Amino acid sequence: MRLSLNTVTTKCWTLAQCIEGCARHGIPGIAPWRDVLHAMGTEAAARHIRDAGLTVTGLCRGGMFTSPGAIEDNRRAIAEAHAIGARCLVMVCGGLPPGSKDLAGARAAVRDGLHAIMPEARAAGVTIALEPLHPMTCADRSVLSTLGQALDLCDELGEGSGVALDVYHVWWDPDLPRQVARAGRRIAAFHVCDWKVRTTDTVFDRGLPGEGVIDIPAIRRMTVEAGYAGGFAEVEILSHRWWAEAPDLVLDEIKKRHATAI
Ligand code: ZN
Repeated sequence: MRLSLNTVTTKCWTLAQCIEGCARHGIPGIAPWRDVLHAMGTEAAARHIRDAGLTVTGLCRGGMFTSPGAIEDNRRAIAEAHAIGARCLVMVCGGLPPGSKDLAGARAAVRDGLHAIMPEARAAGVTIALEPLHPMTCADRSVLSTLGQALDLCDELGEGSGVALDVYHVWWDPDLPRQVARAGRRIAAFHVCDWKVRTTDTVFDRGLPGEGVIDIPAIRRMTVEAGYAGGFAEVEILSHRWWAEAPDLVLDEIKKRHATAI
């Protein structure tokens, strides 16, 4: 698989610097977060990315359906994903609303929100990629926790929906092989990083591929065998430790690990 740079990996860079960095390091894919996209301006970003010949493996992120104003925000995200030619719009679906214990209600809000935005997504030709997040984040970030749960939603949503498979979030799942096979060509994105045994933070202490306990090559093979046709492994490292390093050094380190750990 070719590499794609999720821009959160090089958090101190602007989107223009990320695009230049990809070109300098021979990384053919990019997946911007919306904050850096907004800072550059969507039109200018689309032009620069096109000129650099990069494939946009995803736009991060839509979702957060349990927060006020989510539908409008997702409509804007769909338009942005379309404008930059993103292969998918990644959905972080949202956790419990503040003060709530109503998990079933939060899951229903996610489901209703997705149904509400699908017509726009289909009209724009933007694939909605549901990213199940590790259950540790269920309270604040995503009540969608497993690949099986995501695929049940995709079954309902139909055409234009798919999943973003992030090894960090799904590696522990005993049902993973069966669910990856079930996902098949609905795998819209493949995100990589690693789970450190002594993780200090379940969100911001991700390892580079090979630093932790996830058998990333095994999951990659599973994904390809299932029919993932994307050809890209998107490196998404949320890490205070790696954010403290020079981004060029981080990209060198990722390239070194590409052949052995992805
Ligand atoms: Zn991810």
